[in-house]
Amino acid sequence: MAMYQIACPGCGGPVEFRSAASRMAVCGYCRSTLLRDADSVRDLGRMAALIEDHSPLQLMSTGRFAGQGFTVVGRIQLRYEHGVWNEWYLLFDDGSEGWLGDFAGQFVLTRPAGAANSPPLFDKIQPGSRWSHGGRSWYAADIREAQCVAGEGELPFPVDARWTARVVDYRSEHEFLTLDFSDGQPVCFRGKGVTLAGLEAQRLRDADDVNLRAGRLEGRVDTLACPACGSPITVVPGRTQHLTCPSCSSQVAASAAQAEVLERHSAEQREVGASIRPGEVMHIENRVWRVMGWLRCGVPDDPSEPEWYEYLLFAPQAGFSWLIETATGWQRAQVLDAWPSSFTDSSARLGNAGYTRRCMYRSQVRQVSGAFPWRAQAGDVVEIAEYVKGASVLNAERGPHEMVWSLAEPVSQDEVSTWLGRKVTSILRGVAPADVLAPLLSGKVDPAPLRPVAWTFSVLIAVMNLRYMLPLNLDAIFITGISLFLLWVPIRKLEDGGS
Ligand SMILES: [Zn+2]
Ligand SMILES: [Zn+2]
Repeated sequence: MAMYQIACPGCGGPVEFRSAASRMAVCGYCRSTLLRDADSVRDLGRMAALIEDHSPLQLMSTGRFAGQGFTVVGRIQLRYEHGVWNEWYLLFDDGSEGWLGDFAGQFVLTRPAGAANSPPLFDKIQPGSRWSHGGRSWYAADIREAQCVAGEGELPFPVDARWTARVVDYRSEHEFLTLDFSDGQPVCFRGKGVTLAGLEAQRLRDADDVNLRAGRLEGRVDTLACPACGSPITVVPGRTQHLTCPSCSSQVAASAAQAEVLERHSAEQREVGASIRPGEVMHIENRVWRVMGWLRCGVPDDPSEPEWYEYLLFAPQAGFSWLIETATGWQRAQVLDAWPSSFTDSSARLGNAGYTRRCMYRSQVRQVSGAFPWRAQAGDVVEIAEYVKGASVLNAERGPHEMVWSLAEPVSQDEVSTWLGRKVTSILRGVAPADVLAPLLSGKVDPAPLRPVAWTFSVLIAVMNLRYMLPLNLDAIFITGISLFLLWVPIRKLEDGGS
């Protein structure tokens, strides 16, 4: 299969160039970086070490995409604000190339699609901004500037730890397009979201241990002892890299082989809990979901708005989803793989359904507990636009560098209790204006303390109107009588309803 094989100038070990397009290879024995020029090979020095990131893929893993087999021949590991991701370089059976982006267990396969016609400027692209290309409307979903950590195997261009990737991921319904600005003239890569099972991936890491491999493919839930306090934290190995201990609130990084404390919190800094704890299990639609963590959120521009909780759930084979708890009820939300075909300031179209925009606000994370795939922190702010159709809510969430769509449906508290297998008492009960008025409207309030207030005002009304009523002004007596009657009606009504 090798097109070209040489002896490594550094250690003498065999180094293969399988793809005709490869310009660089890293020796698997001594990590020497070898650059191929015509028929000569130059040694550019030692490549930096890769970070252990629990990726199930490795060099020489194989798979199938669109009816054609491929082999993983190289990788670039990159670091960005949410952690580390891999771009695995693929060689297809027909000699063509592709990339498999590996974002902590979420995969996107793209293939070169030529130069971009009239591309936008990298610095001008905002999350959600539209770009017309190839007869479609594309929307910017993810804008990343990332630093190369290291490379391995063979690659079509030279990289080292100084190399910076500047890429924008665009979405158009199910379609995916990456615009790569790293080397001046932007280049397009087109593809779609994939799973390792869907790619029939073979020769994965730990292939001998079938159970472990199955666990890695589907995502297994594990527990890890908090390095600060020893309490168990529920994690998905390789997928939840950022932890905030539910017991001591310490921030922990779990990207390496062992967990490391980033920020310790003293007991005094611990704050309110939530209605559901990280680590709890929910049985929903024949799947077992684990509560990984929660975010307590509020509206920074309006402190009177009640807070709400967002619980991150995980199920093997299904991935992540959300359960939202607000003062007025519960919702289940799913991040959408297929984007709306169009959206404006007033409406959005998802599939065949039209949604109308209801509101727009900024949402701020106030407290974090548990394990997340990104570094969720108190103070994080995103802009949310809500589009509604009946009881369904389509949410567009815009951060500084990304945009995410999700669809939420209401669920009853009884249903949440059934899923959890215990009675849920919402921590948010009694904070909403609606909940304050509810007992009054339903007559479940004690009218006794209202009586002295009503008597005081009755006397005041009578005294102040005395000079109009005397001597025997029937009109004034009638008007005063009406006021007293209206004052006492709600109290009598409450007394009748309460007894
Ligand atoms: Zn070597
Ligand atoms: Zn702890």
